[in-house]
Formats: sequence, C-alpha cells, structure tokens
Amino acid sequence: MSETFFHLTFVITFLVFTAIRAYYHRLAMATRGKVEYREGKLHTGLRLVVGIPFMVVFFAYMIWPGIAGWAVIPLPLWARWIGVIFSILSVPLILWIQRYLGSNFSTTLHVRDAHTLVTQGPYRWVRHPMYSLLFVQLVGMLLVTANGLIGGVPLLAFIVIVVARIKNEETTMIEKFGDEYREYMRRTGRFLPRGILPRLKGMGI
Ligand code: SAH
Repeated sequence: MSETFFHLTFVITFLVFTAIRAYYHRLAMATRGKVEYREGKLHTGLRLVVGIPFMVVFFAYMIWPGIAGWAVIPLPLWARWIGVIFSILSVPLILWIQRYLGSNFSTTLHVRDAHTLVTQGPYRWVRHPMYSLLFVQLVGMLLVTANGLIGGVPLLAFIVIVVARIKNEETTMIEKFGDEYREYMRRTGRFLPRGILPRLKGMGI
C-alpha cells in the first residue's frame, strides 16, 4: 500500500476529527455561562511552548510530509493498518462522546455555572471516555504516519497532560457534584469499563 494512502488517511481523519471537536467547542463556548478555569500551569505552559510551534510543523507536514522525513520510523505494514483502523474508528466515536458531553466539553479543565454531570452514553461505563479515545486516536496517528515527530510528540504531550490533570479533574467534579460524583465513581472505571482490567488479568493478559 502506498505512502500516499496512509498520508491521506491521516490528513482526512485528523481534519474531520478536529472539525468535530471544534464544532462542539464552539457550541460549548456559546452556551457556557460563567466558567471557572481549573487548569494547571503545566498545561498552559506546554500549550504555549510546545503546542504552538509544533502546530506550525504539523500543518506543514500535512502539505509536505518530507519536512519530517528524518523522523520516519520503519513500521511493518500491519502496524500501519492498525493505525488506519484506529484513525477511522475514532471519527464516529468522538462524535458519540461529544454529543453526550455536549456543552460541558472544554479543551481545558473547567467548571461552569450550568454544568451538568453526564452519566449516559459512553459515560455510563467510563468516567473519561474522551481521554481513552484520544489515546487510541493518537496511537493511530503515530502508526499511520510512522513518524516519531508527528505522531510521537502529541502522544507524549497528551499522556503528560492527562497524568497531570486527571486527579484535579475528579476532585473538581467531586467539589461540584459531591456524593453524586462519588457514587458515579463507584460504578464506573476511569479509562476502561469497571471490571475489564481484573478480567483481562484473570485471562493472563
Ligand atoms: N474527562 C472527560 C471529559 C473531557 S472534556 C472525558 O475524558 O470524557 C473536559 C471537561 O469535561 C472538564 O473540564 C470537566 O469539567 C468536564 N467533565 C468531565 N467529566 C464530566 C462528566 N461526567 N460530566 C460533565 N462534565 C464532565
């Protein structure tokens, strides 16, 4: 399969994925009411120092992949195909998640006056389905591009941001929703449905 196919898969799925997120971001901004930002300094710092210059290279790569030719990783074909599957599947899944999260969505950690606790759709089983999906989507991007710079940097930055944010996000939700969130935590898993990990361990995986 030609490099052009993988590159086009990356460009198209990434642009559609991003357009869906941008649409829901705008929707949330339009209905936000009073918002209280709770984002850590690390996130803001990373966005400015790494995010902005990286975005320039990232979009240049879409038009001219040769710009990051030095960072190519020689991945086997099957790995590239897993990347294709992850990238394509991410599109309907992000739509599903965003529709349920609605105007509670934000790319930064926040609570709003009119915040509601979402516990339906994917949130019925998992507290952070969007983070789980972003991980899959970014792994997909790394595999489909087979590029350590274009795929590796966003994946690493994402892991750092989520590790730094997750406790804070759940504490913020507890402050806002109290026992309702504590009860919700008891019946859900953080990134995977509750009980899946013990079951996988039981199967020796
Ligand atoms: N962590 C969630 C949401 C990511 S969007 C996920 O991975 O699916 C980030 C914003 O969603 C945070 O600012 C937080 O205020 C809000 N949020 C997180 N869980 C929520 C829930 N169950 N209901 C409503 N808002 C939530």
